[in-house]
Amino acid sequence: MTIDLQLILQVFLAVLGFYFLAFWASLVVWTYRDVGARTQDIFVQALAVAMVLFFNVPGLFLYYILRPRETLAEAFDRSLEEETLLRDLEERDDCPVCQHPIRADYQLCPNCHTSLRNVCGECGRLLELHWERCPFCGTEVPREHVVAVTVEPGIEGEVALEAKAREAVTEEAMTEEAVTEDVVAPR
Ligand SMILES: [Zn+2]
Ligand SMILES: [Zn+2]
Repeated sequence: MTIDLQLILQVFLAVLGFYFLAFWASLVVWTYRDVGARTQDIFVQALAVAMVLFFNVPGLFLYYILRPRETLAEAFDRSLEEETLLRDLEERDDCPVCQHPIRADYQLCPNCHTSLRNVCGECGRLLELHWERCPFCGTEVPREHVVAVTVEPGIEGEVALEAKAREAVTEEAMTEEAVTEDVVAPR
């Protein structure tokens, strides 16, 4: 009877030991995979695996505290997002005359009132200054409103637009001055 009890105890301990070893090995494998997804640094990977290998569950806690916050995939996604955000910011235009920030759907600069886009006389949509026809409804834009772009879009094209915009503002300012003078004169 005593021998049987001893045997049962031995088997029980063996199963327990086996379970403990399997648990330990799983922790090490999990750590190896997890750290591999978070860093490509071999030294950090080895350190993490060694920590769990030697200290088991407390080692896993240590690793959990010290591991890189993001996985490599998350870091990649974030860098993509940041890039997109940056590109959006870069694409946001400034007024060619006064550098006031403008939105893509503005017809004129809110600060200096430079004309930034034409409005289609038929459908009312905003048109680039150099478009001769409305691409939405096909209506021709009055010639005097079209700003000729001799060079293909690019830096030089923008410079041409900028010069034209400056001209328009000066003209406008001069007319305004003339009007003010007219109003003031009779007094
Ligand atoms: Zn402006
Ligand atoms: Zn139109």
